[in-house]
Amino acid sequence: MAQLQRVTVSPLQIQDDCINLTAEQQHYLGRVLRLQINDRFIAMDGQGQSWLVQLICSLPAEGHQARILEPWATQTELTCPITLLTALPKGNGFEEIVRACTELGVSTFMPVISDRTLLHPSPQKIERWRKIAIEATEQSERQVTPQILDPVSFTRALENHLLNPLSPVQSFKYICGARQDFHLWQALHHDLQQPVQAEIAIATGPEGGWTAPELDTAIQHGFQIVSLGQRILRAITAPTAAVSLVAARLDTLSRPEF
Ligand code: SAM
Repeated sequence: MAQLQRVTVSPLQIQDDCINLTAEQQHYLGRVLRLQINDRFIAMDGQGQSWLVQLICSLPAEGHQARILEPWATQTELTCPITLLTALPKGNGFEEIVRACTELGVSTFMPVISDRTLLHPSPQKIERWRKIAIEATEQSERQVTPQILDPVSFTRALENHLLNPLSPVQSFKYICGARQDFHLWQALHHDLQQPVQAEIAIATGPEGGWTAPELDTAIQHGFQIVSLGQRILRAITAPTAAVSLVAARLDTLSRPEF
């Protein structure tokens, strides 16, 4: 079957077997993708459910709708949830991180204000990150749109928001630091030797790096300090490099044929 476009819809748009498309979705499907009446696409709720749907014509005053034809079963999610704690980089750098790391499989973004963070984002910026995450979810054919939490201080992120300590699921937490000896790749091979149910957290620092007290606090919260190699990566590159390694480890454990 030809590649089908994906569009994320809210559950409120679904009535019986019809989806009421918003003006923005109608514009995107009709004007940008040039879909015609009866053309098919995938509608997804961003929480794991997808359907094969068909564009149908309704009364002009009501705009276009899509009819649900059948559930669309597919599995492209990673086997373990990844939480990415990122000290916000300058400018629009976090947009690039959200786009690339959504494609790679991150399930929760935890933007943090560290000691050396310069950016304090507006609510509009946070909304823009969430929109980028939806676009990247559709583009990468994932089923679940990652959550983007409101920014908090690094200490608060460690204390309040991190993986539930009472959870029976194992958790592995890594903080990336420049000029370290133990590579994340080695840590992953040591910690993940077979397919497991685990939660994985990765923290990456800002342009100026983590401060020594931040690294100490992270260690107290169960993080291992890891390297991404001997070259110093930009604050925007490091999250993508780290998440790529975790995704590669999880993918190859769950699908040995890869
Ligand atoms: N100015 C810092 C220094 O010279 O130590 C470098 C900070 S780096 C631009 C930004 C962040 O990316 C770091 O805090 C770290 O989390 C991550 N990072 C960059 N290169 C890394 C590497 N080779 N290994 C591990 N983490 C790295």
